Amino acid sequence: MTDDVLTHSSDESDLLSGRCSPADQEPEILSLRPGRLSEYIGQADVVETLKIAIEAAMQRGEPIDHVLFHGPPGLGKTTLAHIIANETGTHLTITSGPALEKGGDLIGLLTRLEEGDILLIDEIHRIPKTVEEFLYPAMEDFAVDFMFDKGIHARSHRYRLNRFALVGATTRVGLLSAPLRDRFGIFRNLNFYSIQDLEIIVKRSARLLEIEIDPQGATELAMRSRGTPRIVNRLLKRVRDYSQVRAEGIITQKTTQIALNLEGVDKKGLTSLDRRYLKTIIDYYHGGPVGIEAIAATLQEESDTLVDVVEPYLLKIGMILRTSSGRRTTESACEHLASLEPFSA
Ligand code: ADP
Repeated sequence: MTDDVLTHSSDESDLLSGRCSPADQEPEILSLRPGRLSEYIGQADVVETLKIAIEAAMQRGEPIDHVLFHGPPGLGKTTLAHIIANETGTHLTITSGPALEKGGDLIGLLTRLEEGDILLIDEIHRIPKTVEEFLYPAMEDFAVDFMFDKGIHARSHRYRLNRFALVGATTRVGLLSAPLRDRFGIFRNLNFYSIQDLEIIVKRSARLLEIEIDPQGATELAMRSRGTPRIVNRLLKRVRDYSQVRAEGIITQKTTQIALNLEGVDKKGLTSLDRRYLKTIIDYYHGGPVGIEAIAATLQEESDTLVDVVEPYLLKIGMILRTSSGRRTTESACEHLASLEPFSA
């Protein structure tokens, strides 16, 4: 995800968000990204779909179908775009919906693509309508139409593009227009990762970063990472710092618990923003139902941040329900908050 989208005013440590922090751009973090499908952990159905699509396209000597990935931030959408480029031996160009302000921005990128290249448009739901219209012929016919002059002198010229594959990534598939959605051949939803998958991811990252971690430490990190690989990698770095300075260097269950409690990440992986969100519904709105705009106003947070980043995981673990009349907290949210005496929201 790009930084301009999700703003987290109260999530100071930024541990919760799936978005990239500048630290994620460091070579160290980049090297944690699996480069091949065989190294990609979890999401078995998505991996199988891509394996088949890539192999079939390579046999035919064609680019793969356009792919749309949908799911909360940090689950591996960008990583999959890198992998598709690696597996097909092509280049990846990355842009995002909000960065494409004018048709010319998109045309500039499209005309520079070589045969078979991959174009990733992150947050594709935020692409302006005028730019989106240039995407239709590009996706369907590998062409862009230029208009010259206006009125009765208007002429159009069709410019052929090299055949490419578009990878769209979005946290809000519902905001995509139907014509755009329909032009993707492959449409896959990424789910939160299981504890077992996150354990494998964190052990792999620890190996690459040369950090010692014991199995209980890996499980504890996995349990506090909101089902999200980007978060497990980020928390691993926080616990590494703590273990280095305050413990014997080895990451154990105990060092993980102490280090993450200090960061405000509780035993279920919830951060202060999650807890404030739940408490707002419980304390101000008697457990709901309450509309998202009212919650956002009370919390003084962007409603987009709540919808994209906070709610998906709380829904997944059953702490909130989304009904037609608004959001409600569940019994398990109340029990969880009550069990957290040392934490202040
Ligand atoms: P998204 O584009 O969905 O926001 P990314 O693809 O940028 O997420 O993934 C965030 C980070 O999580 C990556 O840098 C990578 O290190 C890690 N990651 C994501 N998916 C996996 C996976 N399946 N296996 C191992 N690491 C992963």
